[in-house]
Amino acid sequence: MALVVQKYGGSSVADADCIKRVARRIVDTKLAGNDVVVVVSAMGDTTDELIDLAEQVSPEPPARELDMLLTAGERISMAVLAMAIADLGHEVKSFTGSQAGVITDSSHGKARIIDVSPGRLSGALAEGTIAIVAGFQGVSQDTKDITTLGRGGSDTTAVALAAALKADVCEIYTDVDGVFSADPRIVPAASRRAVITYEEMLELAAQGAKVLHLRCVEYARRFNLPIHVRSSFSLNNGTMVVGSTEGDKMEQPIISGVAHDRTQAKVTVLGVPDRPGEAAAIFRALAESGVNIDMIVQNVSAVETGRTDITFTLPQTDVAAATAGLEQVQGTIGFESLRSDTSIGKLSLIGAGMRSHPGVSATFFSALADAGINVDLISTSEIRISVVVRESDLDEAVRVVHSAFGLDAESGEAVVYGGTGR
Ligand code: ADP
Ligand code: ASP
Ligand code: MG
Repeated sequence: MALVVQKYGGSSVADADCIKRVARRIVDTKLAGNDVVVVVSAMGDTTDELIDLAEQVSPEPPARELDMLLTAGERISMAVLAMAIADLGHEVKSFTGSQAGVITDSSHGKARIIDVSPGRLSGALAEGTIAIVAGFQGVSQDTKDITTLGRGGSDTTAVALAAALKADVCEIYTDVDGVFSADPRIVPAASRRAVITYEEMLELAAQGAKVLHLRCVEYARRFNLPIHVRSSFSLNNGTMVVGSTEGDKMEQPIISGVAHDRTQAKVTVLGVPDRPGEAAAIFRALAESGVNIDMIVQNVSAVETGRTDITFTLPQTDVAAATAGLEQVQGTIGFESLRSDTSIGKLSLIGAGMRSHPGVSATFFSALADAGINVDLISTSEIRISVVVRESDLDEAVRVVHSAFGLDAESGEAVVYGGTGR
């Protein structure tokens, strides 16, 4: 008998019919002779709707209360899914993250799992019961408050439980047939990867490919746990995310894929005095405000004024904290003003083969230039080129770069079965 952990994302449980279909699939897995633990996300766009609601009553809701609110989304879906399974005549129990033993630190909105003690789940399995767990949530070890793991965090709940329960498989069910060379919602010609390594997937997830939560891939790599990403709307095989395939027959492609991210913003600190220590003071203030910075660009200083501009990118959700933190030190640093822009998009081309293949940058920038797309910021690593463009140019930029690197599938269109892409 195998132990299977399955995770169903929001679009897979968007309404009553979807929930009944998923219940059937879970029961089939059980009837095939497996023990089954299911992690479930909030129905459809519930989490976004709850965030909108919170913002209507308070522009900056207290993080503890926001977590309390958002975890309600997964509570609804776990209970309703358990009802649908019970209706099919099977023993089932739902558990909150806290009941399932998901212990986190106390950082609301982006809590890290520090321990998993799934005693109640093991108990349920031993009785032949199907266990349904609310994804994306845990309980803080110190404060005992309810926490959330960050957007998309149900994937991480599933992998963490699979590791703690020593599951044979962790299946992540979503609304596309696996991991593709780009988001199929933007690039219908994207090609599915049958197998992808943790390293490639980490880089794609870190650059915005939200098909898997970054921490879930980190977790899977740490425990060497294979993940099967697949659609809950089809019976097709999806993508296996696995450890190194060296020595294996599988050939790793030069380019893993194109990722994009619309959740970033850009802040420019204008008129910074050009003397040693100014950048340090700016980034210290940001760190103290708990803001994570991604790209940084400093302009050449103007000879007449001896001042320069420093631009950096950050999550849109951190703009208010960054602005407040910098305004506090404006007097001591002596910069002139701040400007923020949330209408940007980031595109990243990722591939381990880039290190040893000259000409990748030339092809990349030519593709954007030929499409008349202006590049605002650039950052590179050995295996990645990222650029910031206008948000309105982002989709086109992803498509032209994808084509320029020959990633378009030879036949067929990538199917998007559900979801709103929100
Ligand atoms: P779920 O609600 O099931 O967790 P998500 O919306 O979080 O689903 O993730 C699935 C979505 O990820 C897909 O619908 C697709 O639009 C998007 N996506 C982005 N990049 C990729 C990629 N490289 N491969 C597959 N899907 C991707
Ligand atoms: N419901 C949460 C979100 O929308 C968590 C998840 O779906 O993984 O981000
Ligand atoms: Mg997700």
